[in-house]
Amino acid sequence: MRNVLIIDDDIDLGEFVTQAIDAMGLHCVVTTNAADFWEALGPDTDLIFLDLLMPDIDGVEMLRLLARRRCGAGIVLMSGIGARVIESAAELAATLGLKIIGRLQKPFRIAELEALVRKEQTEQVVPEAECVSAIDITDEDLIAAIERDEFILHFQPQIDLATGGVCGMEALARWKHPHAGLVCPDIFIKHAERLNVIDALSWSIFRLGLSALNRFACFNLQAPILSINVSTQSLRDLSFPDTLLALLRRYNVTPQQIIVEITESGLLDELSSTLDVLTRLRMKGIPLSIDDFGTGYAMMQQLRRIPANELKIDRTFVAKMLDHYGDRVMVQKTIEMGHELGLKVVAEGVETQEQLDFLRSQHCDVAQGYLFSRALPINEFILWMHLYRPIEQSTTTASV
Ligand code: C2E
Ligand code: CA
Ligand code: CA
Repeated sequence: MRNVLIIDDDIDLGEFVTQAIDAMGLHCVVTTNAADFWEALGPDTDLIFLDLLMPDIDGVEMLRLLARRRCGAGIVLMSGIGARVIESAAELAATLGLKIIGRLQKPFRIAELEALVRKEQTEQVVPEAECVSAIDITDEDLIAAIERDEFILHFQPQIDLATGGVCGMEALARWKHPHAGLVCPDIFIKHAERLNVIDALSWSIFRLGLSALNRFACFNLQAPILSINVSTQSLRDLSFPDTLLALLRRYNVTPQQIIVEITESGLLDELSSTLDVLTRLRMKGIPLSIDDFGTGYAMMQQLRRIPANELKIDRTFVAKMLDHYGDRVMVQKTIEMGHELGLKVVAEGVETQEQLDFLRSQHCDVAQGYLFSRALPINEFILWMHLYRPIEQSTTTASV
């Protein structure tokens, strides 16, 4: 936690809080009016001190606006007009899905403020560590890492756009490198394919994913559907469907609780050799998703041959769809075509409310992206799920 934002019309109090927070090694911005506050508020704001009673600003209205922006920062409510007012404002904020981490009744002591900041520092969910994407790895390193089981999974939520609920989670592999930190899958998956050791890695990923599914029961939560990426190379093995089914049984997971993602380009390269395995996976009740759709130029004709249940629009189209006509048409047509073929359509890489609104207007089924969350370790995913509140349609939907 680093960035603290204060709104209080009392300049002296703002100064007092700033000094205390600076002394704790955090960065603090003080604002005395709403315009400055909204300007200073950013995705990196971790903690907000909000005065509930200011002459020209309605503190309760501020809470509503923060909720509309899906502000995830911890909020400390301050007021000089009695505990009851703060209490009911805190209740309202909680129902709006805001994270109230404390109340300060003015005048308060510096020690009370420090205690709140410290509590938030220790409790805050650690965001996904940046993955290392530039590192030279040798064949021996990778083979040894597979033997030593140095891989972990992070999970990214998928949101059902009709209900707003969490319907799925995609497992994304990371290599817990002994020296370099977390290494991106883009580096080691292709390398493992080249070395022909991808099968061992795929099975280790399945085991991790299935045991993560079983953790939800401990928290009385319904586990979301688990999406697992599988290299098409692993699908060349004709025994793949049987091995997977046996593994599912071992973990007490039904085929319908998972979905296997295969990239469109991988599918097209290997369609003749994998069609057999894909068809048998489907016959065993295991759903299939075509990942990175739009990057492999699948023709309608070929798409119909793949026994898929789901289509994932590649994130490069989602990123540009509001600014580029071509990408927008691609997204619209993919949703239309997917639905015509009876497929569920997922948009990945959704980062903004405007993108979400547009996808909803096009009846896209599911969205996934940083707007909701990055990929998280399973315990943090479960915590995230507890705190998650659906994002409403914004009132100012861009008409594109
Ligand atoms: P993918 O399957 O298309 O996974 C989605 C990637 O997009 C992930 O990167 C994810 O972190 C990133 N992403 C998610 N939301 C957003 C967003 O809102 N904006 C942006 N800019 N990016 C977003 P990651 O984890 O680095 O994975 C990269 C690729 O590595 C995956 O692409 C997948 O093809 C492959 N991969 C990951 N895990 C596995 C695995 O277990 N097995 C196999 N075979 N491939 C995997
Ligand atoms: Ca994927
Ligand atoms: Ca993808």
